[in-house]
Amino acid sequence: MGLTQQYIAKAEAALLHTYNRYQAVLERGEGVYLYDIEGKKYLDFCAGIAVFALGYQNKEYNSALKGQIDKIIHTSNYYYNVPAIEAAIKLKKASGMDRVFFTNSGAEAVEGAIKAARKYAYLKDGRADHEIIAMHHSFHGRTMGALSVTGNPKYQEAFAPLIGNIRFADFNDIKSVEAQVTEKTCAILLETVQGEGGIYPADGKFLGQVRELCNKQDILLILDEIQCGMGRCGAMYAWQRYGVKPDIMTTAKALGCGVPVGAFLMTEKAGQASLTSGDHGTTYGGNPLAGAAVSKVLDLFEKNDIIGHVNEIAPYLQEQLDGLVKENDFFVTRRGLGLMQGLVCKGPVAGVLDKAIANGLILINAGPNVIRIMPPLIITKEHVDEMIAILRKSLC
Ligand SMILES: *Cc1c(COP(=O)(O)O)cnc(C)c1O
Repeated sequence: MGLTQQYIAKAEAALLHTYNRYQAVLERGEGVYLYDIEGKKYLDFCAGIAVFALGYQNKEYNSALKGQIDKIIHTSNYYYNVPAIEAAIKLKKASGMDRVFFTNSGAEAVEGAIKAARKYAYLKDGRADHEIIAMHHSFHGRTMGALSVTGNPKYQEAFAPLIGNIRFADFNDIKSVEAQVTEKTCAILLETVQGEGGIYPADGKFLGQVRELCNKQDILLILDEIQCGMGRCGAMYAWQRYGVKPDIMTTAKALGCGVPVGAFLMTEKAGQASLTSGDHGTTYGGNPLAGAAVSKVLDLFEKNDIIGHVNEIAPYLQEQLDGLVKENDFFVTRRGLGLMQGLVCKGPVAGVLDKAIANGLILINAGPNVIRIMPPLIITKEHVDEMIAILRKSLC
């Protein structure tokens, strides 16, 4: 048995079977390439699910983390620490939001956003039966609160009862959202670009109408930017492209570029009238190591004009993908925003993805029939060409 198969056998004997993994044991990365334990090289157009925005082995990022490890990794939230303070200030500037709460994951950021919205409404009318409107085909994470607002019965069914008073509407259909509003509605939650559900960007008009609806009824708009945020869609946060500002937003994935960290952020208005001392907490959230990662990531985004680069390279990627769609009947269409793209296919894509990985290209799906294209944000035209060539080869 080869080394890879030996490790896979050990993994399958020790880990809980919650993933169907690809047959690769990855060991190290360099730029936009990954290498497995047998030295095989892969072009990475998944970026650890939109995490490794800056690519692997960024020297400045690695030294910042090493420096922080040699000082202190953790202190707890009973004390202040400089890396988290600096990270919060930079994140406020990048997002235009006013208040930051650091979490350890995306799901946990969604949990915090839900609690904040419920508390905001509770402070207004003293009731404890408020409702949240979320979208069909959405994805917000696997913890019980985040799962409750995830509009996918496949993920929810076995885990009932979920948290109550969640209503679902159709994404990009304002009538369907309006139909779910009651006097108990405290928040409307959506991904600015739906990720796991199949790469559906919000329609600009729809997002504006949801914002108006929220303004009229003092409902909080929560935008989940965990996957589509951090520059991927051509703005630091995708909502900035639409000009529709949320009251609460979530961010994670590329926020720490590999160090597990997320955050929920609020405007001053929501922040002053919701969670307060004793309402929410976390042991690790915003510890010095996570703070140092976020702080350095945001510095590097600015210094290297990552967003400018995304806007320069994304049209080329889209053009090449459109070419592929035209040339092969397996594809129906392309949709997405910036470097978050989906190739919608006639049938299941699992076979193509297996062939791609065998051919040295890492891609993932978004639902059974959509190939998700989510490279590190530092890719060049040459990387796009290489990806297209391998993907083309993997179709037959
Ligand atoms: C990945 C994701 C989450 C969950 O984040 P985790 O870090 O896996 O908990 C939530 N919302 C969206 C839109 C995501 O893509």
